[in-house]
Amino acid sequence: MAGSRYARWTVEGDVETRWMCGCIQTVDGYFGFCQKHRPTLEADIRARIDELDKQS
Ligand SMILES: [Zn+2]
Repeated sequence: MAGSRYARWTVEGDVETRWMCGCIQTVDGYFGFCQKHRPTLEADIRARIDELDKQS
């Protein structure tokens, strides 16, 4: 069973923004990253969340 991938690679109608590279943002505020940007963006987001957690 290949049912539950976390980053559901999107239902078309839900996409709000789609970048040339393949990254997307849905109307619900979810991001989908293309293969090229995924490692960088995931690392960046984690670093930012860590930073915000320190501040609060
Ligand atoms: Zn991208």
